[in-house]
Amino acid sequence: MKAIVLDAHGGPQVLRHGELPEPVLKPDQVLVRVRACALNHLDLWVRGGIPGAHFPLPLVLGSDIAGEVVRVGELCTRVKPGMRVLLSPGLSCRQCAACVSGNDNLCRLYTLFGTGVNGGNAEFVSAPEYAVFPIPDQLAFEVAAAAPLVFLTAWHMLFGRAKLEPGEDVLVLAASSGVGMAAVQIARLFHCRVIATAGDEAKLAKALDLGADFVIDHYRQDISAEVKRITGKRGVDVVVEHVGAATWPKSMESLAAGGRVVTCGATTGYETALDLRYLFSKQQAVLGSYMGTLGELHRVLKFVFRGQLTPVVDKVFPISEIAEAHRYLETRKQFGKVVVVPWP
Ligand SMILES: [Zn+2]
Repeated sequence: MKAIVLDAHGGPQVLRHGELPEPVLKPDQVLVRVRACALNHLDLWVRGGIPGAHFPLPLVLGSDIAGEVVRVGELCTRVKPGMRVLLSPGLSCRQCAACVSGNDNLCRLYTLFGTGVNGGNAEFVSAPEYAVFPIPDQLAFEVAAAAPLVFLTAWHMLFGRAKLEPGEDVLVLAASSGVGMAAVQIARLFHCRVIATAGDEAKLAKALDLGADFVIDHYRQDISAEVKRITGKRGVDVVVEHVGAATWPKSMESLAAGGRVVTCGATTGYETALDLRYLFSKQQAVLGSYMGTLGELHRVLKFVFRGQLTPVVDKVFPISEIAEAHRYLETRKQFGKVVVVPWP
């Protein structure tokens, strides 16, 4: 089968257009013909290499996958050939204490398509039956592929970690990112008041279209001063963080008493300061979040399949232009998801 193969870490030019053997199915696995695969910043990090992290090279990238089921293993009972599906990006052992408690994203063997096993930048991918979600007929593969990773991440941040309640005030940093785009919509769906930040006029307008009640230009305005103004000096209940060192102090300053900052990333730097006086006296919480559970993926996709949450697709590239797609995502010009579609 055709595949984009990562033999060694580096820039976009290391993505090799090659051939790999078609996956050999285990009895509990299904073979999916990939019709669309969304990019995530994770693809860029894995391609470039992450200090201290090991990836099994050669590797096929791509965590967000939608396609058609071609064949199923003999132990599969639910999934049938011909089904239009998307795949859970996360995979786990299904039998450890974390997994059977419903916390599969805490499994020691938890991994993702495109990081620990071959992902969707190929003609075919094999997946365990539990990871397969049939999609509605009217949902395009490009849109379906744009959903799982970011909507799952945002859902786990807001509900699994920050215990968001209807009506609370939420600050979403970088609404143009995949996680930001998802978090704005989810918070809005649960009748929260949403303040979103973005980096230019066009993105601010799109954030308002998505359902943000207020927007802040994070390059030209002081985030916490604006939050204080909008909330009458109170601050927000939840901050959705994934920017890191560049925004962390402003995120903490934006937080109300009893508020929670939840973070799933630190693209601008890992290290920051924390003034413990405010943390304890205002009874605030700092929460880490990574992906989400399979149960949460079922819950959030229900809203996507009903059309109540909409993955925003910024641009679709043919997979022949995979390096261009990586470069485009690196520029951060996009609003929402960048998707690649495989060979015709
Ligand atoms: Zn496990």
